[in-house]
Amino acid sequence: MSFPSDRSGPRSEQRLPGPSTLAVHAGEDRHKLGHAITDPVICASTFTFKDSQAVIDYIEQDQERGEYGRYGTPGEMVVERKLAAMEGGEEAILYSSGMAAIVGLFMSKLNSGDEVVFFDECYHRSREFCAKHLSRFGVVTRQVKACDYEAMEAAITPQTRLVVSESPTNPHLSVVDLERFADLGRRHGVDTLIDATLATPYNARPIEFGIDFVLHSATKYMGGHNDLLAGVIVGQSEKLADVRTLRGIMGAVNSAHNLYLLQRGLKTFELRMLRHNANGQAVAEFLENHPAVERVYYPGLASHPYHEVARRTMRGYGGLVTFLIKNADWRVTADVVDRSRIARIAPSLGGVETLIEQPLVMSYYQCTVEERKRFGIPDNMIRLACGIENEEDIIADLEQALAGVQRT
Ligand SMILES: *Cc1c(COP(=O)(O)O)cnc(C)c1O
Repeated sequence: MSFPSDRSGPRSEQRLPGPSTLAVHAGEDRHKLGHAITDPVICASTFTFKDSQAVIDYIEQDQERGEYGRYGTPGEMVVERKLAAMEGGEEAILYSSGMAAIVGLFMSKLNSGDEVVFFDECYHRSREFCAKHLSRFGVVTRQVKACDYEAMEAAITPQTRLVVSESPTNPHLSVVDLERFADLGRRHGVDTLIDATLATPYNARPIEFGIDFVLHSATKYMGGHNDLLAGVIVGQSEKLADVRTLRGIMGAVNSAHNLYLLQRGLKTFELRMLRHNANGQAVAEFLENHPAVERVYYPGLASHPYHEVARRTMRGYGGLVTFLIKNADWRVTADVVDRSRIARIAPSLGGVETLIEQPLVMSYYQCTVEERKRFGIPDNMIRLACGIENEEDIIADLEQALAGVQRT
């Protein structure tokens, strides 16, 4: 029995439990092994059957139980049910990383000759997988400018199977009009995929707008503690059946311990998101008013080109803030990064620790100048992923790191 589907009391009004109630309880049994309040960490690669008839019953009745770890485990099912409930979707499939989830979905849905259309602001490795690897299997990738719905519509052909975007995008934080994106897919009979890693189900729930597949790097806000990698796809069971089958073959699954960490991290999901949102907003406002800062990208700022879309489709705007240092070359920018004392220099986002990076150095160092220009990565760009430290401390740290720029 899984929460909250057991809400069949006399007053069965349509009130859904809040995000924290779902994060704490959804997907879990009320009574667990050994009367423990937590789920057990079962380190089993395989699961036993009483006799041959039990094997046959399992197959014929499509019973939900463990068989062999690669096809799913009871501990994994708990976390999958929880994530599906949090996202407002029918089913969730877990992977060992966000990239494994992206690769898993594309490999399930795309055949030779098929086409996929992307909004161009996207996670660098997603783009690389499409351009360098899907192409080897005869899949055609088209990229159009982020949030240019007309260009996306024009790029759709009878061979198009999937349209893809992140929202908000990384690192520019452009926000997709989810309703328009879903409608575009529906009108052309093409499935829609949103990588909502930066939004999280706390800030946006794309399925409510009619999006077919929602994907997350659970490594980020969902795990939330910079101590695990995982990925998840949420959608309708019917559309996910082939995806689950292929995952069972690919084998990109999580260990029992990793799943426990993810489940534990999720318990405080809403509390962390409230702080990430508050820190992101405060830091963005501070930076926007700082004389050493040329431009700030944050959907919660009225100056952001997608602020109105964000207000319509999101509850909060997350912890990621991207900004440009005024009149700075790459070295002056690197010095700002290097002066930070609280923020740690690292890729990733969504964990309790604030992280800082210069995209030029961290993710785009091996790109040509021309490529960086095309991807919109100037030398003076910094990406700050606010953690859950106190707002005043993160801002004071930035203030001293930026003070050095003003002197030069
Ligand atoms: C990190 C990230 C990914 C990749 O996820 P991993 O868990 O690192 O494999 C994909 N999309 C976005 C938007 C990300 O931030």
